[in-house]
Amino acid sequence: MTEIQSDSLRKLLHRILTTRPEELGCETCCEELGLLAELESRGEDAASLLPLVRLHLENCQSCNEEYSALLTALKEAQSTNPL
Ligand SMILES: [Zn+2]
Repeated sequence: MTEIQSDSLRKLLHRILTTRPEELGCETCCEELGLLAELESRGEDAASLLPLVRLHLENCQSCNEEYSALLTALKEAQSTNPL
């Protein structure tokens, strides 16, 4: 392996290892909450489409509560207005 390759591999590994769900800030998470709730209410695989947001929700109670409320509202809207 050349020096350049091992260096970029090290950087890639560093990025993977240092990326933690809690590093996604509540602000960023909030921006994606609506999208995540919409995907999930449609039965899409939201966890694999937006893994970081999903992980943040598991680690952050305030975002989780906001998300649950949003999801409940979306599901209610869908059940009263079926497509
Ligand atoms: Zn949060």
